[in-house]
Formats: sequence, C-alpha cells, structure tokens
Amino acid sequence: MIIRTKIGILGGGQLGKMLMQAGSRWDLDLWSMDKDFDFPAAKVTNQFVEGDFTHYESVYTFGQQMDILTIEIENVNTEALHQLEKEGKRVYPQPAVIDMIKDKGLQKEFYRNNNLPTSKYLLLEDKKEILAALAKETISLPFVQKARTEGYDGRGVQIVRSLEDLNKLFDRPSVIEELVPIKSELAVLVARNRSGQIVTYPCVEMAFHPTANLVEQLISPARIPEKIENQARELARKIIEDFNMVGLLAIEFFLTSDNQLLINEAAPRPHNSGHHTIEANITSQYEQHLRSILNLPLGDPSLRSSAVMINLLGENGYTGPVIYQNLDSCLGIQDVHIHLYGKKETKPFRKMGHATILDEDLDAAIMKAKEVAKTLKVIA
Ligand code: ADP
Repeated sequence: MIIRTKIGILGGGQLGKMLMQAGSRWDLDLWSMDKDFDFPAAKVTNQFVEGDFTHYESVYTFGQQMDILTIEIENVNTEALHQLEKEGKRVYPQPAVIDMIKDKGLQKEFYRNNNLPTSKYLLLEDKKEILAALAKETISLPFVQKARTEGYDGRGVQIVRSLEDLNKLFDRPSVIEELVPIKSELAVLVARNRSGQIVTYPCVEMAFHPTANLVEQLISPARIPEKIENQARELARKIIEDFNMVGLLAIEFFLTSDNQLLINEAAPRPHNSGHHTIEANITSQYEQHLRSILNLPLGDPSLRSSAVMINLLGENGYTGPVIYQNLDSCLGIQDVHIHLYGKKETKPFRKMGHATILDEDLDAAIMKAKEVAKTLKVIA
C-alpha cells in the first residue's frame, strides 16, 4: 500500500536528496519540488518538479497531486499547506507546527508557555525598541539578537557585547536572548508517527565553526553524563508530544556551565545533526522521517558505532566550479563515508557535502576526522 502513496517533498537540497535516497530502497513514490534542476535532489530522481516552495500557487498545485506532503526546509508557503490540509491532504509536519517553528519568537513563547526550559528572552519589534529597552534597563549587554524569521545557519543571529556593537543591530522583529554560558551544544532527534509511537536518538555533541556559525563537527555519542543524556531525551519526547507533531524533529540544546539543559531551537525535519545516522545508527533519520509520516512502525535508533560527522564546506576564498581536493586519499581511510551533494558551484562556507567517520573507539574516530578535515578541501 505504501508504495502507491504519493509523497511530495518541498525542497530539493541535500536533505531532500538523502530523503529520496532512503525512500528509493522501498521504491516509494517520492516527488520533490524546488526552483531548479541543478538542485541536489534532482540528481537522484526523475520525479523532480520545478517550482518555488515559497509561492502559494506552486505549493498548492504540487500538493494537489500528492497524498502526503512533507518538507526538508521550514521556509515554505504554509498558507497553501493549511489549505491542502483542510482539503484532506496529509501534511507532516503539520503546517501549524511549521508556522510556530519558523518564527523564533513564537517558538520561544511555546517553550515558555509549556514550561520547557529555554534561555530568558524578550520579543522586540525593531532597533528603536531594542535601544529603548536598553535605556530602560529591561535588557542589558551582552545579549544575543535573533531575527524572528528567515534566519538560518547562524545568519540573522548575532552576539551584541558592547555599545559599539549596537551599530550592527538588525532593524527587524527580534528575539533578544540572554547570553548563556555554554559548556557544550547538544542535539537530539525524535520521531513520532501518527499512532503516537515515539523514539528518541542518542544525544550528539555539536562543535561549531568559529566564524561561519555552521556545525563543523558532530560527535556521536555525546560525551555527557547519563543523567544529562536521559534528561535531553525525555525533553525531546515531551517537546514532540506538546507540539503534537508527526515526523522527525531535531532539537538543539545548550548545556550550560552549571549543567542546565536549555532548549535552543527545533527543526521539524531531517537535520544536519543527524547526517551520521545513515551509517552510524540502525535506522537513519531519513528512513525514520519516512516511517513516521507513513505511520509505519518506527525503527531502532540505537548506535551501530561511534561516529564523527564533518561538514565539507566551501573553502574560504574560492568561488566557482567545485573541485574536491584529495578526495581519493580520504576514501582510502577505513570507514570514512563521503557524501557529495552535487552542487556545481562552491562558495565560501557553502555546505557541499559531509563525511561520516566511524570507529568503535570514539577517540580514534575523532583523530581520523581531524585527518579528513585537514586533507579534503573544497576549492574551485
Ligand atoms: P540558527 O537558527 O541560525 O542556527 P541559533 O539560534 O542556533 O541560530 O544560534 C546560532 C549559534 O549562536 C548557536 O549555535 C550558539 O552557538 C549561539 N547562540 C545562540 N543563542 C545563544 C544564547 N542565548 N547564548 C549564547 N550563545 C547563543
């Protein structure tokens, strides 16, 4: 039966490509929509439709031809998704969840209203209101400014430390957050199917690129006490239940210097922090997402191996047709799994691929990952 279900994915980037690859093992009838045939997902399917997922008409027309709709990016036209849902299409994650998550302000309000731990914050409309709040001392330096909408991969997020920094304030509706003393950044994937079955993945540790604000390295399992691991997974379970969401949800946490877990943000789809699950876990995040939206029994999320995942980012200073330098020597290292997304052009810090490095011994995986990161360069 599932084989005849038409599943439409909005977004044809690397996450869409890997969803397609996972679905093709079961010969699922998957369709993808994005702006251009050059996009990664179009490389692995002939069921790719050109269209703009931010436009009502494109989403609505595409959706009408599907049984189930899902996303690989939040920035989609949810008005069309609400309409399709009203007309009886299954849309997972549900449009209401996408609406809430894509506005960082609404997301923070949700956590606060549901007694879910998150950093202190204030919602302010523009630069003028932020400066007024500073003058009245309702906020104080340093703080973090996050544009409520349309920011991703650290764009639209900045730390404001000094009076001088105030010049660079975004003049946009913002979440102003207290600057949290972070010991480490963690992520948990959780999936829920329509019947309400829930599974959580082992916690991973994320190390960020110092300037690009992108995950540079991901370590699985996270090197944290069992108590924190259990707390994070319990919170993940509660969040997906409170969202009443169907699908896969990635939740990013801060572990503070006094060992408090705070929810930073969530993404209602497969996520960069789950790339390693393809090789390192029994069920990959991509297969799990498909299982959950198809209401199949959820797969075992357990680890097969310790792993490190590194993003292969375009080297700073290079723009143009991509060259993967030293790819062959990295392929010669045991249990190094390289994924190239198929983007023709590289530019500084563009996500061009990733590598998952496995080893029974986590420290050995970390060493091998360092070697790969040093050797494999994405240039033009
Ligand atoms: P994006 O949605 O663009 O990924 P995030 O909200 O995850 O943005 O913020 C990007 C990074 O900025 C985080 O991974 C973290 O390192 C830092 N950061 C965000 N919020 C805070 C905070 N309240 N305190 C300290 N650092 C923060």
